[in-house]
Parts: sequence; C-alpha cells; structure tokens
Amino acid sequence: MSAAKYIFVTGGVTSSLGKGIISASLGKLLQARGFKVTIQKFDPYINIDPGTLNPYEHGECYVTNDGAETDLDLGHYERFLNVPTSRANNITTGRIYNNVITKERQGEYLGKTVQVVPHITDEIKRNLFLLGESGEYDFVITEIGGSIGDIESLPFVEAVRQVKWELGSNNALVIHLTLIPYLKAAKELKTKPTQHSVKELLSAGIQPDILVCRTEYPLPMEIRKKLALFCNVHLNSVIEAIDADTIYDVPILMKKEKLDERVLAKLKVHTKEEPDLEQWKDFLGKLKNPIEEVTIGLVGKYVSLPDAYKSIAESFVHAGSQNDCRVNLKWISSEDIDKETVASVLNGLDGVLVAPGFGERGMEGKIEAIRFVRENKIPFFGICLGMQCAVIEFARNVLGLDASSTELTPKTRNPVIDLMEEQKKITAKGGTMRLGAYACKLKKGSKTNNIYGESMIQERHRHRYEFNNKYLELMDEAGMKAVGINPDSNLVEIVELKDHPWFIGVQFHPELKSTVMNPHPLFVKFVEAAMQFKKFKV
Ligand code: GLN
Repeated sequence: MSAAKYIFVTGGVTSSLGKGIISASLGKLLQARGFKVTIQKFDPYINIDPGTLNPYEHGECYVTNDGAETDLDLGHYERFLNVPTSRANNITTGRIYNNVITKERQGEYLGKTVQVVPHITDEIKRNLFLLGESGEYDFVITEIGGSIGDIESLPFVEAVRQVKWELGSNNALVIHLTLIPYLKAAKELKTKPTQHSVKELLSAGIQPDILVCRTEYPLPMEIRKKLALFCNVHLNSVIEAIDADTIYDVPILMKKEKLDERVLAKLKVHTKEEPDLEQWKDFLGKLKNPIEEVTIGLVGKYVSLPDAYKSIAESFVHAGSQNDCRVNLKWISSEDIDKETVASVLNGLDGVLVAPGFGERGMEGKIEAIRFVRENKIPFFGICLGMQCAVIEFARNVLGLDASSTELTPKTRNPVIDLMEEQKKITAKGGTMRLGAYACKLKKGSKTNNIYGESMIQERHRHRYEFNNKYLELMDEAGMKAVGINPDSNLVEIVELKDHPWFIGVQFHPELKSTVMNPHPLFVKFVEAAMQFKKFKV
C-alpha cells in the first residue's frame, strides 16, 4: 500500500467502554493480515503528558522506549501488536497548546490572531499525520480520548471531521464505540443512548461509518436493524462487542463480527490474506486451560485501583499462559504490613512482587515484606522502588547499617539509594526522571543472565533515585550482587541475592515490554520459580 489510511475511534454514551482494546484488537486483525499498523491516542486533558497524574486518577503511566510518559492504552497497543510505540503515539491537548503557544512566541503567526480553529486544529492535524507520513505504516488508528459531547474533545473531533473530508471515504473512516444498555426491568436492550450519541457526532459534522456496540447480551437482528436505520450505517457495519472473559478474546470476537473486513471494504483495500491468528489462539488456549496455579502477592501503594499496575498484571497473564499456570494476584497494600502483621499478610503466597511507586508512604511496609521473603526464601521480584527497598532492607538487616533512601529519609546516615549529584538541583516535576530505554550489561553466569539468554539488554526506566555505588563492594561481599550495570553511567540496574532460590530486583520496568507474542522472560521465570516453590513448600 502507498499512503497510510486513517481509522478514527471515538466513544459515546459513557467512558470506559474499552476504546483502547477495540483499537488494539482491530490493529491486531489488520496486522495479522500482513499490514503494518500503528495506533495513537489523543487525550483531551491539559496536562502536557500523564507523567504528573496520580495513578489513582488515571491508572499507570506507560513509558515508551524514547522516554515519553504516556497513557496506559499505549500499553495495550504494544501488548497486542508487539510493536513499540513512541512519543508520537500519545498527544494531549496540553501538548498541542504548548506547541502552538511556543510557535506564537517565536513569531510564527506574526500579525495573526491565534485561534482554536484553525491554529489548534491544524496543530492536531499535523500531529495526527506524523506517523502516517513516516511511510512505515499502512494503517494509522487514532483513538480519541473521552466521550463525544465533552467540551474538551471538541477540537479533536473537528480535526477528525476535516481529515475525513479532506482524505475522502477511501482513506479515512470513523468507528464509533457506544453502549447498548440492558434494562433488567424491561428485559430489553436499549438503542436510544446510541442514537443520541450518533446525533451528537452528526452535529459535529461526522457520520460514523461503523458502530461498535458494547453489550452484555448478544444483539438481536431487530436491534441491529434499528441501529442501522436510525444511525445511517449499513446493517453489516453494526458490530457487536459483547463482554469477554479476557481482553485477549476481543480480536477473535471482532473477527467473528467481521470488523476488519468492514474496515477493509470501506477503505477499498483488497486482500486475499486471511488473518493469521494461530499464535494468538495458542496463547489463548493455554491461558484458558491452565494445568497449575500459583498465588503471587503484589505489594504496592495503589492497590485499590488495579489499573495503577496494569502492565504488571498483564505481564503475569502472559507469563502464566507460557507456563500453563493460572496466576492469581493478591493485591496487598504495603501500609497493612509491619513486623507484627507481615507473616499473616504474606501467608500462603508462592511469590511476592514489590511494586514501583513514589514517595515515602508505605515504604517501610515494603521493606518489611522483603525481609520476610528473604529470610523465608520465598521467590521475590522487586521492580524499581521494589528493588530500591530490597537494597535498603539488605543494608539494614544484613549489613547492620542505619540505612535508607533519601526519598524515604532525606537525612539518613547511609543513603544506599540516592539522587545523583546532577539531579539534586532539579526542581521541575514533569519529565525530569531517568526515562525510557537504557542499555544494561549482565554479569556472565548470573541468574538474570541465564534468564535473558543474552549479555546486553535494553529496558525502560522511570525513576529519580539510584543505587549508591559507594556501597557496591560492601553489598557484594555480603551476598547482594549487582549483576546488571549500565555500561555508560555505571549505574546498578539489577541486584540478585546469593543463597536464595529467586530474589531479583530491577531498577527498570520489565512489565512495559511484555507482550502476548513475547512474554517477558523475568516474569516467565518468576512464575516458574513460584510454581517450584509451591511444589516443595510444606
Ligand atoms: N520513587 C523511586 C524513584 O523515583 C522509584 C520510582 C519507581 O518505582 N518507578 O527512583
């Protein structure tokens, strides 16, 4: 294919209908037919990026290889497509305005009144076309955050209208995702909210080409006909999206409903290629038919909102399937853990993961949990703050130091985790961390080296604090080995414990690279270690 074709996914009736999963599933189906696909998300909020948002409010912040802090939907795109995203894949209103205002100060619009239309919409369009114009993709799927009718998404919707008009129906189409609620009392599925939502889209000048309808029950023919007639879409473009057991079922369900075929037909793309979903189905088959079962404790600060640890949870789904093992996650608030409670809170677990996080709240509980799993030889996996807590725990309880991280105890006598000198002067908040992919050299013969099967890896980071190399030798001699080092900065990226069946802490975020097709080896082996532990525990 020559020029990229553009598919827009909007949402109506309510938020949280799963536009990200629908976009990722369509992307998967097109990719499985041999097309090159990328997915981008436009978020209507004014933050420049979600990096400064509280995970309670917005779920996890997903980091790309090039160090962009992005919406968690990009995680779904990568997990489904197995292709990395980048800064260009997530744009916010804040970024658009920031660009326009910067240009205004530089005199680019000299003499002109800078306005939402055309300046903001033009900047949206410029960003919208960036990926398509790279020549790398046949299809660019663009998910518009929020719901139709929101004040803040209006400029994005207007940009979509213009693009649809400019490119024509062979090159751009709009999929509208809505909800068909079921009224228990009337025992009926209701189409009215969808009709209203389509009217709202029409009033913005956009006729949706395809309706994807979230529903708890199958859509009967008369409902489909009604939707088609009242929303001006072809009957075969009313697509049912019924609730699924797992998000990974959705590509299969969308294929059954022929979503990809409809898209290809409308965009006049002819292909004989049928989607090759063999590997995907193998993954699903293993996921749904586990032979074994383990329970892993996820110790974190934001456990009441599991979206805060989305990528970790999904990594366990991938790793579980690979191991033919159901992984039950037990979400544990680190604030519930202290010396007295730790044994009962962690009782019965086959492995413990201590999660990433910011700020001192709950950190002592994490440290206590790590002491318990270290002493009781329970498989342990520490990610980012989890790794830092493992270092503090070891310094305190094995080396006998009065130690801490300067994030937890700014005036600690032994800052085993500390800011690097050049970071100490930075006061800005957004985008000031070590972000994105960095190289890491693995020590030959270490457990981690064997797990990866290679000696140089690239993993993604998002943190400010680092292992303090002044303590490297002391730790090493006592059995905490630095087995992964950044070759450029000498920063410690991975620690492992000697004399423990599975105790690994990583400064980076392996969960951001686990996909259905490529489960992350650290998660795969951690689950395997938990299965082993379960087998032999008394
Ligand atoms: N708060 C720690 C730091 O900034 C860890 C961050 C994280 O876990 N992502 O270094």
